[in-house]
Amino acid sequence: MTLKPELQRKLIQTVANHVIQHAEELVTLDQAIGDGDHGLNMKRGFEAVLGDLDKTAALPTGEALKAVGMTLVMKVGGASGPLYGTLFMSLGKALPLELSGASLADAFAAAVDAVKARGKSDAGEKTMLDVLVPLLAVLRSGGEDLPERLRACATEAAAATVPMRATRGRASFLGERSIGHMDPGARSSELMVHAILDVLEREGAT
Ligand code: ADP
Ligand code: MG
Repeated sequence: MTLKPELQRKLIQTVANHVIQHAEELVTLDQAIGDGDHGLNMKRGFEAVLGDLDKTAALPTGEALKAVGMTLVMKVGGASGPLYGTLFMSLGKALPLELSGASLADAFAAAVDAVKARGKSDAGEKTMLDVLVPLLAVLRSGGEDLPERLRACATEAAAATVPMRATRGRASFLGERSIGHMDPGARSSELMVHAILDVLEREGAT
């Protein structure tokens, strides 16, 4: 699968800008149950992604995703850098040459599995996986109104981390006190999904 360079540029650029614009919110979320750096980590990473945009927009899509992932690993830092880096790199590696709904879901499944392995974690632990895993299920289900269901799923899944108790990552040190706050990584995953869907809907590509 290879996207047209124009669309690929817009996708990367919009995801990066959307995360950067929400850096303060992500900092606030991470201040509540972590060390307050998630927004700044992500901003630094996605600013570097924007710096490489001319190069990555022109690459085959799988290679572009791998390049974005490498940049995130190198620049984001924290726990989320290697995890988001793994997500993008694995997706790039698994992306099928011929795109269909099922093959995209398989590639995303491989990427989510790689994040689980890297984080030694799974859904239910109050992390980004609590958005990524439900998204995979919706992607697999396919169907007509898929973009709308993916959008709703991301929002609901991020909100559903509020009552959870963290058992992975820094927030797990708080035990019961991690309850009552949205997980910052869940929110950044939601932001990325919404940015992707915004572009695809605007471009009439869904
Ligand atoms: P750090 O926790 O090192 O300060 P960040 O603040 O950038 O890193 O990222 C925190 C986010 O990373 C959390 O909100 C959570 O979503 C995610 N995260 C942390 N540890 C794990 C893990 N083991 N598996 C999956 N996601 C994790
Ligand atoms: Mg942090």
